[in-house]
Amino acid sequence: MIEFLNLKSLNAPYEKQFHQKFEQFLSAGYYILGQEVQQFETNYADYCGTTHAIGTGNGLDAIRLILEAYKILGKLQSGDEIIVPANTYIATILAISQAGLKPVLVEPDIKTYNLDAERVLEKLSSKTKAILAVHLYGLISDWDALSDIAQKHDLLLIEDAAQAHGAVWRNKKAGNLGDAAAFSFYPTKNLGALGDAGAVTTNDSELADIIKELRNYGQQQKYISRYKGFNSRLDEIQAAFLNVKLPSLDNINNKRRNIAAKYLEHINHPEIILPIFNTQAHVFHQFTIRTKQRDKLKTYLSDNGIQTLVHYPVPPHKQPAYSEWQHESFPVTEQIHREILSLPVRENLKDDEIFYIIDKINRY
Ligand SMILES: *Cc1c(COP(=O)(O)O)cnc(C)c1O
Repeated sequence: MIEFLNLKSLNAPYEKQFHQKFEQFLSAGYYILGQEVQQFETNYADYCGTTHAIGTGNGLDAIRLILEAYKILGKLQSGDEIIVPANTYIATILAISQAGLKPVLVEPDIKTYNLDAERVLEKLSSKTKAILAVHLYGLISDWDALSDIAQKHDLLLIEDAAQAHGAVWRNKKAGNLGDAAAFSFYPTKNLGALGDAGAVTTNDSELADIIKELRNYGQQQKYISRYKGFNSRLDEIQAAFLNVKLPSLDNINNKRRNIAAKYLEHINHPEIILPIFNTQAHVFHQFTIRTKQRDKLKTYLSDNGIQTLVHYPVPPHKQPAYSEWQHESFPVTEQIHREILSLPVRENLKDDEIFYIIDKINRY
């Protein structure tokens, strides 16, 4: 069986260093917002090229905290409309709802699976205050077009970069493209912790300061809350593990790109649509193909010992939690959800496994 993911084997190369970190952690006896978190915040800001990185409990909270901080700064108000792709992972939408803002779903471009700038323009209203762009599957959204719209219409431009650690657009990394960006280090992400973890990156010092307080009960000083804050701190031991793995991120991404390049070169089946390849802008968090009879292909691959996954089976507007959207129609989004299939693209996939997968697909 070729596994889609095996987190234990993906983390095996770092085990010795993890043990060392844990020993240090145990003997230091400092568990919350310690040196490892500080170190990771410095390291990750350096990596992204931003002046600030703020560790958070997870990626959902990272998005939420950006939005809450903009409310404190007066740049967002309850009920403001936030443009967001209709085909994103539910967490993006949940963060907007939780912040008391209104998600305005926009159909993606069927070729990139990311926000379609033309359709963004159609959905702008006097209440639109921000675009929350998702770099889905690891591909940076059409940043030239989106920055243009944001500038012309005076909108905040926020990245959900939870799938795009290390992706590059015109020499700038994901996380350093808009006004602020949210990352998740959920274990399956390209940079994955051994539990929940997230971060916000930004070049805005005022925003960074507020987020630092918001993640810690709104406190600037111990026991003095300036804001009605949250408890969403990056855990010290997860920060320690992330400090171990961060130096390998570019290498991880390049290995994924090389696997993707092989799929792209050798898969040729008339019924299968391949993703676009953009060398620097894509880090292949997922390698997604599309086909009309997706479930049939999935079963065929499974029968041949190849595990695949669907990202995602149910779009946000069809989720029971958002019954108010039940009757809305997003045909492009629905088509993607019907047809999409993710092939294994983990960085430790071996050549013989890659070519076995290619061969089976071509014989489908
Ligand atoms: C993983 C993910 C999130 C949420 O991150 P968590 O750490 O699981 O909360 C948000 N948006 C996208 C696009 C994601 O892939």
